[in-house]
Amino acid sequence: MADAVALGDDHTTFIQVEGMPVLSRAAIQLHTAGIVSSIQDGQPGFVSDDYLNAIAAETTTTVLELEAAGMWERRDGGYLIVADEMVKVAIDFHERTDRQEAECARRGKHLPPDGGSESGWVICGHCGIPLKRSDGGPVALPDGGPLGPDARQKDS
Ligand SMILES: [Zn+2]
Repeated sequence: MADAVALGDDHTTFIQVEGMPVLSRAAIQLHTAGIVSSIQDGQPGFVSDDYLNAIAAETTTTVLELEAAGMWERRDGGYLIVADEMVKVAIDFHERTDRQEAECARRGKHLPPDGGSESGWVICGHCGIPLKRSDGGPVALPDGGPLGPDARQKDS
C-alpha cells in the first residue's frame, strides 16, 4: 500500500489540469486512483465506499473537495465520477493494453522496443509491459506472458 499512503496527504499544493477545476494534489491523486480502482472493480466511474475505506490515508477532506468541485457525486455505497473524461481515456487505455497483451500471449513473445534504452528499462514495443527494468520490480513472464510477481514484495 505504499502508493495509497501518499493519497490524501497533500492539501497544500494545487494544480490546474486542463479541463478540470483547480484541485489539490491529493484530490487529483484520489480522482485518478479512484478511476483506476473503479475499472478494476468492474464499475467504471463509480468509486465505492469500500475502496475509500480501504485507503490508508484519510480521504474525507479530499472527497469533499472533489464533490465541491463537481467532479464526484454522492450515490448509495460510493461516489459517481461526474467528470468522466478521464474514465473514458482510462477505459480505452485499459482495453487497448488488455488486447495488446493478449496478442503478445498468442504470439508467444513480446516484441523488442522501438528505441534503445538508456534507463535500464526495456518495455515491449507492442503492449508496453516491462521486459527488463532497473528497479527490480515485476517483468513479463516468458513466452509473451503477463506481468510476473514482484520480487520486491515479501510476505504481503
Ligand atoms: Zn508485449
